[in-house]
Amino acid sequence: MISSGFFTRSDRTTISRAARLAETLTQRYFDLAPDEWRRYPYRIFTRGEVDKTFHQSEIFAHLVRFGETTSSRGDQRRDEPFGIVLQDPNILLALLRSARHDLWTLGLFILTHELTHIVRFRRFDVDLFPSTEERDKEEELVHGITSEILAGVTNTDYILALYEPSGSRVSKARFI
Ligand SMILES: [Zn+2]
Repeated sequence: MISSGFFTRSDRTTISRAARLAETLTQRYFDLAPDEWRRYPYRIFTRGEVDKTFHQSEIFAHLVRFGETTSSRGDQRRDEPFGIVLQDPNILLALLRSARHDLWTLGLFILTHELTHIVRFRRFDVDLFPSTEERDKEEELVHGITSEILAGVTNTDYILALYEPSGSRVSKARFI
């Protein structure tokens, strides 16, 4: 039974399992070292674990960095760990609106998308804080890569179409 509110302990377990699969799929897609995600760990937060300033009403998730976000020269550092902040109330509300997908599938989609952002930033020199135009382009690109990664994975086609960045006004700002 899905209810609005925050993730339960069981939901967190589902998310952890989805994260393991998302790690494996992104590692294979980008041909990363098998220990990539152990060497560059990230943390998953839910809304209850972060300050109110990180609460967002329009998105499912966004990335944060730990520690200093700039070097002494003002550059973004690429070796600091990432956090993925999941907006669990928004995710649970989306699940309430549709009986066609579940937390496992939506969680896998969101985490694959966010891990792709992390790889793009760390490996492909993508700006983490781009202009609006650049951000829209990056979102489309990341969505396309997420679609390729999840091609053939059970039950993800419907979600990929639903959250296609171009086309739908609502989904435009769904992810960061
Ligand atoms: Zn995104």
